[in-house]
Amino acid sequence: MPPTNDPKKPFHIAVCGGGIGGLALTIGLLHQHISCTVYEAAHEFAEIGAGVSFGPNSIRAMSLLDPSIEEGYRSIETRNAWDSKKPIWFDFRLGMKPETWDESFGNPVGEDGQWIAAPEAGHDVGQCSVHRAHFLDVLVKMVPDGVAKFGKRVEEVVELPSGKMELTFHDGSKAEADAVIGCDGVKSRTRQIILGKDHPSTNASFTGKYAYRGLIPMEKAIEAVGEELAVNSQMYLGHHGHILTFPIEKGKTMNVVAFRSMDGEWTDEKWVLPMKREDMVKDYEGWGAHVSKILPLMEKPDIWALFDHPAAPTYYKKRFAMLGDAAHASTPHQGAGAGQAIEDAYVLSSLLGEINSVDDIEKAFKAYDTIRRPRSQRVVTTSRDAARIYEFEDENLGSDLEKIRETLGERFKWIWDEDMVAQKDKALQLLRDEGVKVEL
Ligand SMILES: Cc1cc2nc3c(=O)[nH]c(=O)nc-3n(C[C@H](O)[C@H](O)[C@H](O)COP(=O)(O)OP(=O)(O)OC[C@H]3O[C@@H](n4cnc5c(N)ncnc54)[C@H](O)[C@@H]3O)c2cc1C
Repeated sequence: MPPTNDPKKPFHIAVCGGGIGGLALTIGLLHQHISCTVYEAAHEFAEIGAGVSFGPNSIRAMSLLDPSIEEGYRSIETRNAWDSKKPIWFDFRLGMKPETWDESFGNPVGEDGQWIAAPEAGHDVGQCSVHRAHFLDVLVKMVPDGVAKFGKRVEEVVELPSGKMELTFHDGSKAEADAVIGCDGVKSRTRQIILGKDHPSTNASFTGKYAYRGLIPMEKAIEAVGEELAVNSQMYLGHHGHILTFPIEKGKTMNVVAFRSMDGEWTDEKWVLPMKREDMVKDYEGWGAHVSKILPLMEKPDIWALFDHPAAPTYYKKRFAMLGDAAHASTPHQGAGAGQAIEDAYVLSSLLGEINSVDDIEKAFKAYDTIRRPRSQRVVTTSRDAARIYEFEDENLGSDLEKIRETLGERFKWIWDEDMVAQKDKALQLLRDEGVKVEL
C-alpha cells in the first residue's frame, strides 16, 4: 500500500532533492510515520529521457520499502526478449576488428563479435531496465500531496541555538527541521556543507572516461545486427572503449551507450554536451562490423563526462546526513548507482522508524553510516575497475579472455546477492548497541 501522511514521531525531517534517492527515502519515511518535507530545486519532479538498469538487490530493496514500488517497476520494465537470455545481464563480446589489434595487447584475440562471457543476474531480473522518467513517475505517484516543495534549491544548512536545523534556499526563503538528509545528486551542495568545501573528498572527480548515449528504433537495430544481438543486451569490448546495447520501452527501442577513455581532465563545466558525430566516428575507428553498424544509427545522441566521488570519511555530521549520489556517486559500469540509493533509503528509513526522540537521530545516522558507507563506496571503486576490465586496461587481466570470462562470471555477485533484510538488521543491532530500544 502506498504510504499516507500520518506522522506519529516527535521529529520532522527535511529531504533535499527529489530524484530516485530522495523519493525512495520519502516513501520509506512516510511508511515509518515520520513527518518529512522534500525540497526540490526544480519546478517539478523530472528525470532525463534515458534508461536505467537495476540489479536483483535493488529490486529487493524497492519491495522492502514498499511492494507497490516493485509492482510499478515491473509494469514498466523491459528485459531481454529471448527466454534463454532472460537471466543474462549482458553477453560480453569482442568489439574490435582482429586486424586492428595491436600485438602488444595480447594474442590471439578472436573475431569481432566473438562471445566472451555472460554473467547471470537471475531469472527474474537478468538485464532489467526502465525509462528513468517513467520510474520517477512510479515514485512520485506514491508521495502524498503537500509533502514536496518545488523551486527550493538548498544553499545553506545551519544548526540554530534552539537545536533546530535551518535550511536557506536560493530564493531567500528558509525552513526548519529536526534533521536534514541531502539527496541532491553528484554535484551535491549538502555534501559540501557536511564535509567542508575544501575537503579533498568533497568534489566529484573525472574518471578519465566519457560516453555517447543515444537510442535506435528496434527495427533498424535488427536490420543492422540481427535479432539476437538487437533484442538482448550486449556489451562489445575493445581497447580503451566499450559499447553496450539493451532493449528498452518494451523492446521498441535499443538503448546504446558507447564509452571511451581519454587522457587528461574534463575541462568543460558542463558534463553533458551535444555530440559531434565526426568525433564519435573518429573515436571508434578500427572497431568491428557490429559496432560500426550500430553507432551511426544513434538518434539524438549526447556525450556524458563520467565523474565519481572520492570516498567520503563520513555520510553524516550531527543531525545532517547524505544519501544516494550525494554520498557516493558512481560510474555506470555495473548498473548499480541508483540501486545503492534505494538500498540507502531502505536502511535509513528503517533506522529512523525505530527511534522516538530527536536526541536519537544522530545514533540512527551513525548506524546508517557504519553499515552503508563501506558497501556503497565499494560499488564506486569496483565500478571504475569494471570499466578497466571491459577496456582491457586492467593490469592483471589485460586482454586475457579466459581470465576475463572467469572474473565477469563472479565479480557482480556480491552486489546482486545482498541479503537486504540482514543488512537492515545489522544496522538496527548497532542502534540497539547505542542504547536505543529496538525490536529485532
Ligand atoms: C551515464 C549514466 C548512466 C547510469 N546508469 C545507471 C544504471 O543503469 N543503473 C543504476 O543503478 N545507476 C545508473 N547511474 C547512476 C544513477 O543515475 C544515479 O545513481 C541516481 O540517479 C542517483 O539518484 P539521486 O536521487 O541520488 O540523485 P539525482 O538523480 O541526481 O537527483 C538529485 C535531485 O536533487 C535535486 N537537487 C540538486 N541540487 C539541489 C539542491 N541544492 N537543493 C534541492 N534539490 C537539489 C535535483 O534537481 C534532483 O532532482 C547512471 C549514471 C550515469 C551518469
